[in-house]
Amino acid sequence: MDVYGLVGNPVGHSLSPPMHEAAYDHLGIDARYVTFEPAATDLEAAIDGARALGVAGLNVTVPFKEAVRDLVAVDDLAARVGAVNTVDFSGSEPTGHNTDVEGVRRAFAHHDVPLAGERAVVVGAGGAGRAVAFALADADARVHVANRTVETAESLAADVGATAHALDELPALVGDADVLVNATTVGMDAPDQSPVPADALHGDLAVLDAVYTPLETRLLRDAGAVGATTVDGAWMLLFQGVAAFERWTGRDAPVEAMNAALRARL
Ligand code: NAP
Repeated sequence: MDVYGLVGNPVGHSLSPPMHEAAYDHLGIDARYVTFEPAATDLEAAIDGARALGVAGLNVTVPFKEAVRDLVAVDDLAARVGAVNTVDFSGSEPTGHNTDVEGVRRAFAHHDVPLAGERAVVVGAGGAGRAVAFALADADARVHVANRTVETAESLAADVGATAHALDELPALVGDADVLVNATTVGMDAPDQSPVPADALHGDLAVLDAVYTPLETRLLRDAGAVGATTVDGAWMLLFQGVAAFERWTGRDAPVEAMNAALRARL
């Protein structure tokens, strides 16, 4: 039996175990996906221990995505993003990857949203904002990053070749945009809050909200009301898991089975 898992703290409510185990069940793979919650001071011991015990792969989440870079051989994308969310133990040394970026790209592709040449606005410049901005920039979108703390937007914008903005510029930016992503925590567990004024939205937009609790955020409701294409945060979560599964197993992921398992728990 192969063992996969998630390292983070806390990880008690993670949706990754049911999502990955649905894939193992669907394909008849003899594997389990479990959660690990080490203390911050034990991360190196946790990675070494997982390797010694024959763990096949680990996802990595808050607060370890940056620190784990020093413990594995980081690929080019994860190095550029500055965060590892997937560790692969199949080679002679553990390797670190970032499937959050692919999750964003595939979430848009699944909804037939083109990115190349499109004008894209990312609201937020934390962990999710970085993954989103790299995904959009690498897909040749023209990226604008807006953040409450403008210095953080400037830093991310410099990393991806985007322009940085304050939140009060959002109405003008969104009015001219083709793609809009909320990568802030605004709207999380607070269905009546949106980071973007409703009257800035328009029907030619495709809107992804990284927030997935709730699935239908105020932003997505407002966007749907004006006829925009809406993509909820579970699609991004799904496709980062799909990409990790495919890296670890070398097999096409059963996307529908994983999606059903994920949405059953949201
Ligand atoms: P983070 O690193 O803590 O970043 C939080 C971001 O939200 C920062 O840009 C912060 O701005 C902004 N923010 C917080 N409160 C705000 C407010 N009241 N008004 C305006 N901006 C505010 O968090 P994260 O890891 O990026 O997560 C952000 C969201 O994405 C969360 O809801 C998380 O669950 C979700 N997420 C989803 C996925 C997925 O797969 N769907 C993956 C990762 C994260 P400052 O820089 O000014 O503080």
